[in-house]
Amino acid sequence: MPELPEVETTRQGLAPIVVGRRVAAVHVYDRRLRWSVPSSLPKRLVGRKIDALDRRSKYLLFRAASDTLLVHFGMTGSLRAFSDPPPRQPHDHVDILLDSGVTLRYRDPRRFGAMLWVPAPVEAHPLLASLGPEPFDPECDATYLHGAVSGRTAAIKLALMDNHLIVGVGNIYASESLFRARIRPTTPANRVSKVRLGRLVAEVRATLTDAIAKGGSTLRDYVDSRGEPGYFQLDYYVYAREGLPCKVCGAAIRQIRQGGRATCFCPNCQR
Ligand SMILES: [Zn+2]
Repeated sequence: MPELPEVETTRQGLAPIVVGRRVAAVHVYDRRLRWSVPSSLPKRLVGRKIDALDRRSKYLLFRAASDTLLVHFGMTGSLRAFSDPPPRQPHDHVDILLDSGVTLRYRDPRRFGAMLWVPAPVEAHPLLASLGPEPFDPECDATYLHGAVSGRTAAIKLALMDNHLIVGVGNIYASESLFRARIRPTTPANRVSKVRLGRLVAEVRATLTDAIAKGGSTLRDYVDSRGEPGYFQLDYYVYAREGLPCKVCGAAIRQIRQGGRATCFCPNCQR
């Protein structure tokens, strides 16, 4: 499932290609994503200039004046840019042609993604309105986190994955950040000291930064805007490494279930 680094990698790849361009044509081949692609999308989008390509949490925001095309990759979505697009494949659902001749092609085998048209302001849209701060926001610091988890007895890993608290930290990057911060994922959130929460937010940022630099993670089918996979999965300390030796201390990595998801951690390094 694409997480923040994969979406950011796509954003960074697409921004120089789309910003300042106008939409020349839109072809919707299959509207059945998580929510139906609006049938009015071609009419709304054609002729509009893309002023900016932003990211909020795992949403890509193509801004056209005060309107926004909101794109989410769901489980298996990707958006690639082609100057000479190959013949359409079965899971290619939407093509957006730019006045430069470039085609943006949305592919999504499992169709849990989204492509919605949002008249201004997108920040008030129900999908975005209740989101917590971005991990790179300066105000998302130890003081903020300490206050936000003060009444929470849920495990710190589950708190970290709660989009209302902080966005963009999914299963992979929560597990990796907790390892780097040496915090046991099962620790009740309100029992993690402010100092350790400060270390945690620093490691969340470091982990995401490293992952973006490696083009994100490709576990199954994620590719970036050029069709390239990410390589951060080779750098995992704990995720998907059950039974393998810890890269720091050599102890066997342990796997448990939390909130229906697998959590991997080092029982020696993380306390
Ligand atoms: Zn260890």
